[in-house]
Amino acid sequence: MYWKIDDKENIDTQIEQAATLLRQQEVVAFPTETVYGLGADATNSAAVEKIFLAKGRPSDNPLIVHVSSPHEVSKYVQSIPEPAKKLIAAFMPGPLTVILESNGVIAENVTAGLETVGVRIPDHPVARLLLEKAAIPLAAPSANRSGKPSPTNAVHVHHDLNGKIAGILDGGQTGVGLESTVVDCTGDIPMILRPGGVTREQLEAVVGKVMVDPALVQSKDKPKSPGMKYNHYEPDVPLWLIKGNANFFQKKINQLTEQGKKVGVMASGELAEQLKAPITHPCGSRQNLSEVAIQLYDTLRSFKQTEVDVILCEFFEEIGVGQAIMNRLQKAASRTIVDK
Ligand code: AMP
Ligand code: MG
Repeated sequence: MYWKIDDKENIDTQIEQAATLLRQQEVVAFPTETVYGLGADATNSAAVEKIFLAKGRPSDNPLIVHVSSPHEVSKYVQSIPEPAKKLIAAFMPGPLTVILESNGVIAENVTAGLETVGVRIPDHPVARLLLEKAAIPLAAPSANRSGKPSPTNAVHVHHDLNGKIAGILDGGQTGVGLESTVVDCTGDIPMILRPGGVTREQLEAVVGKVMVDPALVQSKDKPKSPGMKYNHYEPDVPLWLIKGNANFFQKKINQLTEQGKKVGVMASGELAEQLKAPITHPCGSRQNLSEVAIQLYDTLRSFKQTEVDVILCEFFEEIGVGQAIMNRLQKAASRTIVDK
């Protein structure tokens, strides 16, 4: 089924149909404020298995459970420590996932056998209505084939998963454009396991000190979030990150062009207008990294193998949401070239 949510009169019926499929243990893609999710009943392991199959996702990578209210969060965890309570009050609904001790109600394949579970409340009217009507918690990873950039519109979902899932709710373009921030709240001090839509600075304003998983900074450490060890977000052609000024960037374009390579450039509007390249896809302004976040995955997907051999991409400043942007780009990239 493909439901285009464009007519207010039909919304109730469309979402009711999607909710019915979910209650029948089918998988359905739906928009959230971060990226599109691929949902299934989080209490039913057979339904959850269909997510792993459709995505080609490794079974040791746990899924985030989506619920409709803070009260729902408490149904699936042993307890909610004080810092987690503050974070839930401040950022839910919103792009934040809290990791808490599971009480065992959520199916084992959702948590990949861990004692903990990740829970969030999406801030999107379609996702909220779907959760209310389905009246079940939804395990929902991003609705892309594993390893590919996450989907920020229904065309991306259709491209990756058509024929593999029971339905797609098309609610247009998503808002934040990047996934939620994953915060482990099982210790005394909350720890960011994956940077995302809520920044470290925003979290610290609410709970004081917040740690960052050392593996996010030093690549030799083993990440505490199983999913962070996999390659991710990869476009169809190799992506190289270029850290340097416009002159350095242009030199790299020229060198590769001389070697006979068709070069694509992915950069902010500010840098793009200083460069000469065969194909340039600007992705927002350096002055407004939220814009870059919104356009990031769509831009990664827009480079086609038939048109370019390599993508040279700007190295964005790692402040605010720039931390999440660079986390995704570093996972997507096969090389980083730095002007020393
Ligand atoms: P995705 O569903 O594709 O947005 O990815 C979910 C991310 O959350 C992955 O990086 C998972 O490893 C992480 N995650 C989910 N549940 C847990 C958990 N219980 N403990 C640690 N990380 C988790
Ligand atoms: Mg994902």
